[in-house]
Amino acid sequence: EAITVQELANRMAEKGADLVKALFNMGMMVTVNQTIDQDTAELLVEEFGHNITRVSESDVDISTEEDVDPEETLKPRPPVVTIMGHVDHGKTSLLDALRGANVTKGEAGGITQHIGAYQITTKGKEKQKVTFLDTPGHEAFTQMRQRGANVTDIVVLVVAADDGIMPQTIEAINHTKAAGVPMIVAINKCDKPEANPQKVRERLLEHEVIVEAMSGDVQDVEVSAKTGAGLDDLLEKILLQAELMELKANPERFAEATVVEAQLDKGRGPVATVLVNRGTLKRGDTFVVGTESGRVRALIDDHGKQVKEAGPATPVEVLGLGGVPQAGDMLTVVENEQRAREVAQYRQEKATEKRTALAPTNFDTMFNTSDVVEFPVLVKADVQGSVEAINSALHNLSNDLIKVRVLHAGVGAITESDVSLANASKAPIIGFNVRPNAKARELVKRDNVEMKYYDVIYHLTEEIAKEMAGELGPER
Ligand code: GDP
Repeated sequence: EAITVQELANRMAEKGADLVKALFNMGMMVTVNQTIDQDTAELLVEEFGHNITRVSESDVDISTEEDVDPEETLKPRPPVVTIMGHVDHGKTSLLDALRGANVTKGEAGGITQHIGAYQITTKGKEKQKVTFLDTPGHEAFTQMRQRGANVTDIVVLVVAADDGIMPQTIEAINHTKAAGVPMIVAINKCDKPEANPQKVRERLLEHEVIVEAMSGDVQDVEVSAKTGAGLDDLLEKILLQAELMELKANPERFAEATVVEAQLDKGRGPVATVLVNRGTLKRGDTFVVGTESGRVRALIDDHGKQVKEAGPATPVEVLGLGGVPQAGDMLTVVENEQRAREVAQYRQEKATEKRTALAPTNFDTMFNTSDVVEFPVLVKADVQGSVEAINSALHNLSNDLIKVRVLHAGVGAITESDVSLANASKAPIIGFNVRPNAKARELVKRDNVEMKYYDVIYHLTEEIAKEMAGELGPER
């Protein structure tokens, strides 16, 4: 009768890290992926002021005790790795280099597909697999966590050896620690003459990251995404860390998977990239994701190839969804369509309940904002992950004097309705990797609506922050 800390957190709609903290205060050292017994679980539930109730029949995403996979069904699975670090320190380069260096000849001339995550197979004789989330940065990581999705097993913290510890390096360290995820430090750009990896190690001490070279227990490795130096070493360290964690999942069951990216594709309809947590996702499976049901019409791997199934920690694009889910949503395979509809309906009711319950809080903030300047914006982006990252980045720009108010945020091209909403609210439209359609363009011209286009979140926040400062005027 056991449950993982994360599953319990999901059930209580609390953060896994908060439970870990509470457990720590109760004298137990566990990570979110470890299981705890029923008594401990009940203590925790009370600690957080929730009622203990038996799980409703209709709620499949909430795994019941008997739903924990018996030890003998568990098989080793690849680790899931997220790369974090300061802007320009080489996260994207590293992801590309790791992927490029590990494309085997058989793989369709090395054609790769950006689907939000990819998997490599090491070249050594053991042929081990590693899965990388290829939306680097801590915004996506944090957003997923806020939705209760802890897909990352290991964080690789990239620090440029010529630049050292920077603000986003520190943020990444904090996010990683909060999540209780082990970290490996990749000191990048070591090919540069001005590189000073030793200084990086020393400065990391100030943030309580003690690498092995400084007699700590955090693995560190000098790399160059440019020359490829140290990449095999990095992979080895990832695999070593994974081995310590004994990552396992039961591949022989209905699949549960987490959405890492989703979008509306012109030709293919709603498409979601998922990472299978446990079980095996198969073509033809009936599922619920978020509050939508669907049936797997096709599965496409990170090389753009159709596959019949995907096992634990395997990233795959799913076609056949009823709508565009959100990053962090759980996709759960169920027996049949009838069941899928039931579960979807149940989740919809839950979502409505939650919204109603949240309403008073919203009123509170409304009443308190009387002398706070509001900065309204509309956000449209190419993928759900970006929408959430932008939302959260904008939210962080708010302070006591001025608050960003996101009137609407969504995936897809900028439409007429976006423009009319922006016009009515005197708000600019922020387009991230998207443009207005023809009709919307006409309206933009006619109504003189302010449009801003970006392809780098950092540029977006920088500029909006400036505008917000301007809005307040020099005297504030
Ligand atoms: P990100 O913002 O963290 O994703 O960083 P990028 O991967 O976009 O890299 C930022 C810049 O650093 C680019 O101009 C890269 O070419 C360069 N860069 C990345 N890795 C290395 C490296 O190992 N050595 C050198 N010399 N340049 C690098």
